[in-house]
Amino acid sequence: MTDLTNQVAIVTGASRGIGRAIATLLALQGAQVVCVARSEDELVEVAHKVNGLAIVADVSDEQDAQLVVGGTLSRYGRLDIVVCNAGVGSFNLLENFSSEEWDRMFDVNVKGTFLLCKAALPHLKEQRRGHIVGIASDASKRTFVHGTAYGASKYAQHAVLDALRREARPHGIKVSVIYPGLVDTHFNESKPGAPEKEKTHLQPLDVAQAVRYVLEAPAHVAVDELMLHPMTQEW
Ligand code: NAP
Repeated sequence: MTDLTNQVAIVTGASRGIGRAIATLLALQGAQVVCVARSEDELVEVAHKVNGLAIVADVSDEQDAQLVVGGTLSRYGRLDIVVCNAGVGSFNLLENFSSEEWDRMFDVNVKGTFLLCKAALPHLKEQRRGHIVGIASDASKRTFVHGTAYGASKYAQHAVLDALRREARPHGIKVSVIYPGLVDTHFNESKPGAPEKEKTHLQPLDVAQAVRYVLEAPAHVAVDELMLHPMTQEW
């Protein structure tokens, strides 16, 4: 098993939802966690709780992505784990989407993943080890009505990470992708915590446990993909 104690992990989208649960669980395993998102107040609160570092950044901005990696290295002197979790989604018939809304989903979900991996890779390659984890979606592997823009961005994020796995493995770097079904978070302006969602949705901690599982796999084991759904969700 890989011990996460003192491993340095960047978690994007750590201000709430799945990212917050991942940051909390990794810190509980002894990792040093760098929390990244745009909402400063929520982010600082999470970073304080996990005794980690808060870096306010927009993952779709290349300079911000470089600053996140640079800030991590100057604080901890190393980088072991990169969790590309930040994401946005909205759902509508194709003709009702504005091109701005389309761009927003691709900027955060696809370009955000690309930019952080691009910034982190030279350091992971130099160390000849590291682990990149992408939080994709079951919408990376199936289409549905109202899901054109989000689905296209999540298919693309999955493709980026899938191809990167082939590039990274010869350098000793693992790339794992998690594909959750419905999760009870603030996603798409939802309000989490309604009692009826306990059966219909996963909890953020369920996804965080999946991330922990792939990270703790022994050094010789690469968990490439992991999909999870609530029991009630059709797949
Ligand atoms: P959430 O509660 O809305 O959280 C999204 C997180 O992403 C927030 O911390 C948000 O922080 C951050 N974020 C958004 N845009 C950002 C940007 N430009 N730069 C930096 N951070 C940004 O949603 P969630 O459900 O936890 O979503 C996390 C991931 O899970 C996403 O990739 C989503 O596609 C995926 N997912 C969600 C579900 C679901 O049903 N909820 C299912 C499958 C996959 P700020 O707004 O403060 O920046």
